[in-house]
Amino acid sequence: MGRVLNFSAGPALLPEGVLAEAQAELVDYAGTGMSLVEMSHRSASYEGVHTAALDLVREIFAVPDGFSVLLLQGGATLQFSMVPMNLLAGGGRGGYVASGAWAAKAIADGSHHGDVYVAWRRPEEGPARMPAADEVPVQAGTRYLHVTSNETIDGLQMFAWPETDVPLVADMSSDLLSRPVPWDRFDLVYGGAQKNVGPAGATVVVIRDAVLDDLTPKAGAYLRYETHRRSGSLYNTPPVFTVHVLGKVLRWVRDEGGLTEMESRARRRSGLVYEAMAASDGFYRCPVDAASRSLMNVVFRLPSEDLETRFLAEAEAEGLVGLRGHRSVGGCRASLYNAMPVSGAETLASFMDAFRRTA
Ligand SMILES: *Cc1c(COP(=O)(O)O)cnc(C)c1O
Repeated sequence: MGRVLNFSAGPALLPEGVLAEAQAELVDYAGTGMSLVEMSHRSASYEGVHTAALDLVREIFAVPDGFSVLLLQGGATLQFSMVPMNLLAGGGRGGYVASGAWAAKAIADGSHHGDVYVAWRRPEEGPARMPAADEVPVQAGTRYLHVTSNETIDGLQMFAWPETDVPLVADMSSDLLSRPVPWDRFDLVYGGAQKNVGPAGATVVVIRDAVLDDLTPKAGAYLRYETHRRSGSLYNTPPVFTVHVLGKVLRWVRDEGGLTEMESRARRRSGLVYEAMAASDGFYRCPVDAASRSLMNVVFRLPSEDLETRFLAEAEAEGLVGLRGHRSVGGCRASLYNAMPVSGAETLASFMDAFRRTA
């Protein structure tokens, strides 16, 4: 069997060329006579890979001076704790936008480490949506406002950052590397690699250096951002293979045209699927408000669960896999990350159209 069209939400598809290159280098890395996964992370070979990956993040995202790029472990999930442990160590409160399933986890974990509150909660009535830019009131003493730029499970994305005087902190796990970031608004941005940036095992964190001044969180070394900043993300053994592949994905993004090109492709891909829904006479229904529909994770329902089951089975038989919605919400979800060609979204849209006609 050839490669399928993989619409999985994460871990997700990677560019085929990246996988082939990683395979070719696996046994003997650059003539060293050993694999990268067998050598010291203090070796010159690995340090080259590591530094190149950090530099590429900075280059592709146009991260300005005054910010540090870190590669950590523990996923975005560990950041749910590290953000308040560090940023609230000097006092203050964390405001959170409760936009969906992932924001809820950030809030739950945050409450163990500091004074956090919900600044905006998604209404239960009506189509799911993100807040309007002027709709998020922050309370006195707020140190940061935490947003989830793309709710992977619920299929909504934030297109207007909240207008507020406090710095933003964003979980960008599922839309990192798909659009530019306005750094002047952010103190910290984080995202697990496995959605759009590489294999699981690394978390990209970009943090404003000034944030770390005067902070002395009472936490072990790994849990303090300062530890990783000072050691260039080499405090302990990094996930060497993940960083290696992540560097290749970053190079691929750069060579394909960078973030503006990734954003334009994301619009085309998701547009094809949303158009297939709009043209379906209500057969496919998107539970998300038009203004908040994600370009990365397109969620949809069919008229019945029976039809959804048949849809998923027939799609899989045609090599369109990973379309089942998250187990907590059901339905269908097409994740359309950077490595999904526009032609893959075309194939899905045609399949949706054909399935509807025969259902
Ligand atoms: C996948 C995901 C997470 C969790 O990431 P892990 O790396 O598994 O910890 C958190 N936030 C969002 C928005 C996600 O999509």
